[in-house]
Formats: sequence, C-alpha cells, structure tokens
Amino acid sequence: MRVFEYAYRDSGEFKSGLQALKQWCNEHNASNVLFHVYVESPDNPALGTVLQLISKTIPRALYVGCSSSGNILNGELSNTDIIVTATVFENKDTTVEVHQYSLTEETDKDVAGKVAEMVNSNKDIKAVEFLVTIQGLSMTGLCEGLSKIRDDVSIFGGGALNAVMKDDEVIVFSKVGDITDRSIVVVLYGGKDLHTDAFYIGGWNPLGHKLKVTRCVRNRLYELDGVSAYDTYYKYLSIKDDENFFINSLEFPLIMDIDGVDILRAPTACNSDGSLEMTADMTEGSYAYLAYGDPWTILRHVNEYGLRVQDFAPQAIYIFSCAARKTFWDSSSKETKPFTSLAPTTGFYTSGEFVRTDKRIDQHNVTLVVVSMREGRKVRDHDKLFHMGDSADLSGQVSMVNRLANFIDAATKELEEANNRLSIMAITDGLTGLYNRMETQKRISKEVFDGVTSGDDNNLPCLIMIDIDNFKSVNDCCGHSEGDRVIKGLCDMISDTIKKRLPPDIEAAAGRWGGEEFMVLIPRSSIEDASKIAELMRIEFSRIAFSQAGCQTISLGVTKAVRGENVDMLCGRVDQALYEAKKTGKNKVVVK
Ligand code: GH3
Ligand code: MG
Ligand code: MG
Repeated sequence: MRVFEYAYRDSGEFKSGLQALKQWCNEHNASNVLFHVYVESPDNPALGTVLQLISKTIPRALYVGCSSSGNILNGELSNTDIIVTATVFENKDTTVEVHQYSLTEETDKDVAGKVAEMVNSNKDIKAVEFLVTIQGLSMTGLCEGLSKIRDDVSIFGGGALNAVMKDDEVIVFSKVGDITDRSIVVVLYGGKDLHTDAFYIGGWNPLGHKLKVTRCVRNRLYELDGVSAYDTYYKYLSIKDDENFFINSLEFPLIMDIDGVDILRAPTACNSDGSLEMTADMTEGSYAYLAYGDPWTILRHVNEYGLRVQDFAPQAIYIFSCAARKTFWDSSSKETKPFTSLAPTTGFYTSGEFVRTDKRIDQHNVTLVVVSMREGRKVRDHDKLFHMGDSADLSGQVSMVNRLANFIDAATKELEEANNRLSIMAITDGLTGLYNRMETQKRISKEVFDGVTSGDDNNLPCLIMIDIDNFKSVNDCCGHSEGDRVIKGLCDMISDTIKKRLPPDIEAAAGRWGGEEFMVLIPRSSIEDASKIAELMRIEFSRIAFSQAGCQTISLGVTKAVRGENVDMLCGRVDQALYEAKKTGKNKVVVK
C-alpha cells in the first residue's frame, strides 16, 4: 500500500501528478486505487475539474470525498482549499468498494441495515469507512444499525463540514454518486491480508461534580441539574454569551460515560432562552461532567496512542479530527504531525467523528480518530519511531492546569463526601441510628400518599408504635447508660426483625418517635401481617437479657392507614392503640 498526496493548486500540476501516479501503478501492478478528495469550500468550481481528471486519467480508480473544515496533508493543516490523496493497494486480493446512499432521518437505519447486510455476507471485508452529512440528522440510528456489523470489522468515518463551519452547507460525493448535501458515502475495504486499527483519542478530563441532563431535545441542551445550561457555563467557568462563546466553551465540553466509552459534546452556540446548541445529541436523564482540555494532558494521550500506531507498523494513516481540535490548537498541527514519522498521514477536520471501539460505535466530538492501515504482515521498520516534537515536555512533569484540576477534583470529592455524611445525619437519630422523627413523618406521609394514589387499598401502609415498659425504673435502678443500652438493644432487634421477616421489596422504615418510643412503617401491608410482626418483636425483645437491667418488655400499637384520613389521624390512632396496651397491662400488642 502506498499513499500519494496532492495539494491542489491548478489543473496542470494536478494532471501531471496523476500521470506520474498512473505510470507508477502500471509499473507496480497496483490492484486498486482509491482517492480521497477533501474541499474546504463546497462551491469551489475546481472540485468538478479534480473529479473529472481523476476519472479520465485513471478510469478504474474510485474516489470519495466531502467538504471539510480543514484538510490534513502530510500530517498538517493544508493551506489549499482542495487536497487529494491516492491510496494505492498492491496486494492482488485487496478489494475496495464504494457505495453512496441518500440519507434522511427516515432512512438512516435502513441504510445502516443495508451496509451491515453487505458486510456480514462477505467475510473478507475488514473495514468500513463512511463520509456523511450529519447536519440536521440524529446519528444514533445510523450507529445502531452499523453496530450489527460483524465484530471483527473496523468502522470509522467523519462528518462533512466546511471552512466557515456553517453546518448547513456541506457536501459528500463519490465516483458512484453525485455531489450531494444529504448522503452517506461508504467505502468497504477487504482482503485476506489487509489490516486496520481504528481508535479515538480524547484527552479531555472530567472536572468537578456530576451534572444531570435534566432537559434536552436532540442536540439542544436546555438544563443541567434543573438550571439553564448556559447558566452552568457562566457560573462555573465565567464564560459569557458573547462572540467568543464558541471558542471559550470549546476548552470545556461536556463529557459523558456511555457504557464505558467517553463521549464529548461541545456547545457551539448559546440561545436567548439559555439553552445551548451542542455538537450532537445528548440523552435526557444521563449524566455529564464539565471537562477541561489541557494541552499537556492531550499531547500525553496522543503520545500513548502514537506508540500503539507505531506497533501496528502502518503503511497509511487516515485522520478524522474534530474541527473543535483545530480551533483548540489554533490551527497548529501539534497532534497530527507526529504520525507522519510512521506513515503518510492524511484526513480532514470534521463536524463529528465515528469509530467503533471494542464496545460500541459512536458519533464523537472533540476527538481525534486515527486509522492505521496495512497490507501484508507487520514489518517493523526500527527507524520509524513515533516522536512527539518536544517530547521532553512529556517526560514526567505535570502541567499547572493538570495540578489545579486535580486539586478541584480532590476538593469536590471531599465536599461530596461531607455533604453525603451531612444529609445522612440530617435524617438520622444519633443514639439509635434509626430515622429521626422528621424523616419518619415524611416517609409515613409519602407512603400514605402513594397508597392512596395507587387506587388500591392493599397498597396502604401499616404503622407499629413501640414504647418500653417501665423504662423510668431502668434508668433509676441501673443508670442512664444502661438505659441507653436497652434502647439500642431494642432498635437492633427492630432492624433485625424487619430485615429477616419482611420480603426484600417491602422497604419498611423504623424511626425514633420520642425518648423510648419508636415507629415502624410497613408499606403495602395487611393489618394481620403487621400484627404478626409486632407480636414477633414483642417476644424477641422480651428474650434479650441486658447485663444490668436483665429482661425488659415493650408495649405495641398497630394500625393500618385508611383512605381519606390525614397522617395526624393515622398517628393518633396508633398512639391510642399503644395507650390501650399500656392501660390494659403492658407487654402486649393492641390492634386498632
Ligand atoms: P411506661 O411503661 O408507661 O411507658 O412507663 P415509663 O417509665 O417507660 O414511662 P415513659 O415512657 O413516660 O418514660 C420515658 C422515660 O424514658 C423518661 C426518660 O427519662 C427516659 N428517656 C428518654 N430518652 C432517653 C434516652 O435517650 N436515654 C435514656 N437512658 N433514657 C431516656
Ligand atoms: Mg415507657
Ligand atoms: Mg414513653
């Protein structure tokens, strides 16, 4: 496999380039030639000339292409509007097929299904590339459809864009179709001895605490944690809604973990209602973090993955890099140029990148998709070493941004832990570890409400109220500490009984109602079952021998909520039941 690269300046120069290529192909018995053509201005009239010249000079060659927001030639952002690369395959059994389908939201799954069927019925196909106009479409359907493709096939590609990043003026095209603004072009690479490796490099890291996507319609993100999405960017990052919003927020996209794959989405614009236009769909109800892009961390990631490419020993490297990365690096080719030390590196800046990881196929944003390709077995050329220009910078120091981000992470984690502890304390009784009275009341109200609204009286809860008999005398005879131990002994028994005697789907709650008075809430219970539990508790407690106080007893009241009454009436009735138990001899259960 050989790659020939052309920065298109005029037809004469290009023509002679093609002639030389044709001759090379003849001399080397090339099996296939595939051209990639990328153009920054979709209306550039020279595009037609380029495609005609290719067809005329090498009729059997195939071509695919799209508009781009930057062309990558020899690992660098090219300064020409059109670039052309020719990948020449030398193995006899390498195959290249090109297909083009028009794509709408209605057809995305069908098209993906067709591609999947085609690939799955040909076991020699090793890789699928696609160039697509993704504007106005949700790519989830396409990715879902493509995920039906056999696991051993690499899948990668990019979304068309243009120099001014106006996403409604984009094109894709191929030898087998027209230049269109709504299509998918698919390249199928096959051959027993064709090898590919595709992956994505992120480099952006999560920052601060988790945010819930509380309102989102496709790629319009309205709310995070119930607050307008723009306000989040302003509050945490002080990013204003001005002409620099896109550039400023780019360094801080949102990062989501979807089945173990990091997916980034960057805001592209801010709407007057405080919602943000994101680079692609987000899912309502999912979680995201703000992420930060730190040049040092990103380059370190590139370096790690560069070694993977080095080990693959590629003959061609295709790059699909997000336009956001071009802006992030201010058009410098810091992270793409190093790949040229391994093989010719070409590609373009996209509106979205696609790649299959070992887990899923996703449309990514703000990532760099790197595809390595090789015909034949791996031949490592030991002179070809991946080399990041100023690699000394990567040898061990940590950037200031990275340290500050670490600091924020550690501080956020500590605060989150402290908050969790505080929220548990706010609902817990200190001595017994059961819920406090406020929380118990809250839970009773909720359970009664849920039972009533379900429309089925079987779903109404039961209450058990418990009071230790003659407890004053325990305190008087054995001291307050022994009294505390008796209270704790009772609470442990209550918790144990709930755990052992109630089905796991019944979430009973036990709370401290007053000094040595306790309330047990049993959701969706019959009065008979609740009475049985109460009786069990009475017996269990009477069997505990405290070291000084010996055996003690409890009295219990039991009742079931009734539709139409309020919570005070319910609690009053169970209190009455307990009172009756006390009045009629104690150490008993009274049901009301
Ligand atoms: P009865 O059988 O009628 O319930 O008699 P009693 O002696 O248990 O009477 P009552 O329920 O009114 O007694 C409550 C006592 O519980 C009074 C108070 O000193 C004691 N007490 C309340 N909270 C605590 C506590 O946290 N620790 C200890 N040791 N005693 C407590
Ligand atoms: Mg008592
Ligand atoms: Mg009492």
